[in-house]
Amino acid sequence: MTNVDVVVAGAGIWGSTLARRFAEKGMRTLVLERRSAVGGNVRCETDPESGIEVHTYGSHIFHTSIPEVWQFVNRFVTFNGYQHKVLARHKGKTYFLPLGLALINGFFGTELKPSEVPGFMADEAHSSRLFDAFFRGYTSKQWGRSPEDIDPSIIKRVPVRASYDVNYFNDCNQGIPLGGYNSLFDRLLDHPLITVKCSQRVCFKGGAFMVGPDALPNIPVYYSGPIDELFGYKFGELPWRTLRFETEKMNIADYQGTSVVNYTDAEVPYTRIHEFKHYHPEQKDVMALEKTIVMREYSAAWKRGDEPYYPVDNAASRLLLEAYQAEAAKIKNLVVGGRLGAYRYFDMDKSIAAALSIEI
Ligand SMILES: Cc1cc2nc3c(=O)[nH]c(=O)nc-3n(C[C@H](O)[C@H](O)[C@H](O)COP(=O)(O)OP(=O)(O)OC[C@H]3O[C@@H](n4cnc5c(N)ncnc54)[C@H](O)[C@@H]3O)c2cc1C
Repeated sequence: MTNVDVVVAGAGIWGSTLARRFAEKGMRTLVLERRSAVGGNVRCETDPESGIEVHTYGSHIFHTSIPEVWQFVNRFVTFNGYQHKVLARHKGKTYFLPLGLALINGFFGTELKPSEVPGFMADEAHSSRLFDAFFRGYTSKQWGRSPEDIDPSIIKRVPVRASYDVNYFNDCNQGIPLGGYNSLFDRLLDHPLITVKCSQRVCFKGGAFMVGPDALPNIPVYYSGPIDELFGYKFGELPWRTLRFETEKMNIADYQGTSVVNYTDAEVPYTRIHEFKHYHPEQKDVMALEKTIVMREYSAAWKRGDEPYYPVDNAASRLLLEAYQAEAAKIKNLVVGGRLGAYRYFDMDKSIAAALSIEI
């Protein structure tokens, strides 16, 4: 591990973006990734039989309004223009999210006009029925709380669209890489000054960065693993929600007619069903196949050894995070980032933006 100028620990989108920037600055960059493959939680696997790209860690749709990020990713891949829509299944009926005219008129059987939406939603009887149908059960499953404990006032913070726009995201740029997400990482990391080593976990022990029994040279380390794990959980574990995915291959062309359906009722144990072939409408041969792959997503409390997905933001976790951040600040040559390092939910574009904004 000599002849290296900088180490990037973690080959997710934050680490891979940084690695590329270092290499383009002429720095010899060593990327160490704990898993057996790069890509972090954006990693996909293509089913060899059907050619369907399965998002291993749940559906990922690239969307951004940050011009620098859009420009950056388009250097490496071309996007297919997929526009994300999410449906919601409640008591056996299907509705369009997000909260807008399609959902409101579909649910109440009304024919409201855009100008009538604010007044309609200001009526507590309407907003609380919407909350009970679409937010209470889903939020309780997502965060592992009893439906009665979900604060009804959250619906006041949900933006309401006074239109039939059912595009799930507001961003002007959106899509899925034409060659799949893995091609983004392969190209980002394809540079003569980048060396990638997988199945290598970086830890901090006895005042030094280690990979297995080997100490890393005394050079800058950019770390995007869990910040509490880096310090052996010495102050305790930061709380996360984890996800369990159940994948099923079916001998039918189409299971649900769309990529994601949210199941909003508390009695249904899963939160969503993903159907991946819908992310690539341009793959006409895959679309036509009498085969599809769906994935049911279940949410659960995280314990050590599980994959961490969503940080649980509360007063105790914020205090714990501050203790770990103070510990990290004591280490010369260490920069901690990414979703696991920052203990924050970031969309992919925000992770890239964070990596682009680091002064190097
Ligand atoms: C269910 C779900 C759905 C999502 N959907 C979307 C979406 O539709 N659109 C969107 O923009 N964003 C989405 N996101 C967010 C997206 O996953 C993140 O923005 C992105 O993964 C962040 O990248 P990262 O590099 O910070 O972290 P990660 O992807 O977690 O990468 C960190 C990498 O570091 C490695 N690592 C950890 N510890 C060590 C160590 N000690 N040594 C070496 N390597 C280590 C990990 O194995 C991993 O590869 C979603 C997130 C979730 C949870």
